[in-house]
Amino acid sequence: MPDSHRVYSYNAVLMGSPILLKLFSHDEALASRVFRLIKQYEDLLTVNRADSQVMDVNHAAGQHPVVVSRPVFDLIRCAKAASLPTDSAFNLAIGPLVKRWKIGFKGDAVPPADEIAALLSITDPANVVLDDANSSVFLTRQGMEIDLGAIAKGYIADRVRDYLHKEGAELGLINLGGNVQTLGSPEDGWHVGLKKPFAGDALIGAITVENRSVVTSGTYERYFEQNGKRYHHILDPRTGYPLDNELDSVTIISQDSLDGDIWTTLIYGMGVEQGCAALRSRPDIEAIFVTKTKEVVISSMHHFRFTLLDDSYRITGSTV
Ligand code: FAD
Ligand code: MG
Repeated sequence: MPDSHRVYSYNAVLMGSPILLKLFSHDEALASRVFRLIKQYEDLLTVNRADSQVMDVNHAAGQHPVVVSRPVFDLIRCAKAASLPTDSAFNLAIGPLVKRWKIGFKGDAVPPADEIAALLSITDPANVVLDDANSSVFLTRQGMEIDLGAIAKGYIADRVRDYLHKEGAELGLINLGGNVQTLGSPEDGWHVGLKKPFAGDALIGAITVENRSVVTSGTYERYFEQNGKRYHHILDPRTGYPLDNELDSVTIISQDSLDGDIWTTLIYGMGVEQGCAALRSRPDIEAIFVTKTKEVVISSMHHFRFTLLDDSYRITGSTV
């Protein structure tokens, strides 16, 4: 293969996740700049350290509004909009519960029910008050915490795509720990693996895309077991406990990774039937559901191809 068609991979660990960048040119300087960009956004948005703009907002809960930079404000606004509809499974104010459960972190255990109930009362997204003119955010009740863990990687993946484009790259792929965004159309497309739940790196199949994002939310990435029951990191904002339905994972194929990240969480909460119904009015957002009973349900398949690699799974859905 001529050098111009070789793929070069660059790796880093950021946001507690393995990061993979693929370029079609050997350009370590560009790769370093991409990783630096991701780190800058991590420093603004993280809630896993005491200092960040989002943590400044959280520390001032119940006291006063905090002025944040425009990208942080816009992302919080977007996360709030996804949280407000009745029955939305997405809630940017879920922070106190995420911190209490500690799923994926040291000391994770099932909290007492009365504590969960008490924390639920300070997770109302309507109490995240935004002031557009001042670019400020106010959490009206003490103890409230914003958590952008379900949306920030999607946002950052889009910024990486835009940056690569601006730098003149025609082809590139960024994988932020399961959150994939692609730039351009290589000869055979970009192949993104669909992971088999609870089976390490084994794959159910391959998703082939061009200029598209592929985001997966699964119960198998971060979880712990207690008394034989599994507790994973996507919490139901209505109950305060991990979402429990027929799904092992949801993958969204969309143009922007931001949409993918929001919709994986929304659709996870809806389940297969309601999720497919919701997507009928959104031809730009497509989903692949993996159920606990080893079905792969595809909502529609206009912007990607899917190749099944594990025949213990069967494909069903509106396209087959
Ligand atoms: P998604 O399914 O997209 O989101 C799940 C995550 O969203 C949960 O982990 C929780 O944070 C939050 N959440 C749970 N329920 C809901 C809900 N109903 N609505 C909205 N949000 C919900 N991990 C580390 O181990 N160490 C780190 O230092 C670290 N730093 C990070 C810094 C940043 C800026 C980001 C974005 C992530 C970081 N992470 C870190 C990972 C983070 O803790 C989450 O595990 C990760 O963002 C989950 O992404 P996902 O795509 O797997 O899950
Ligand atoms: Mg998400």
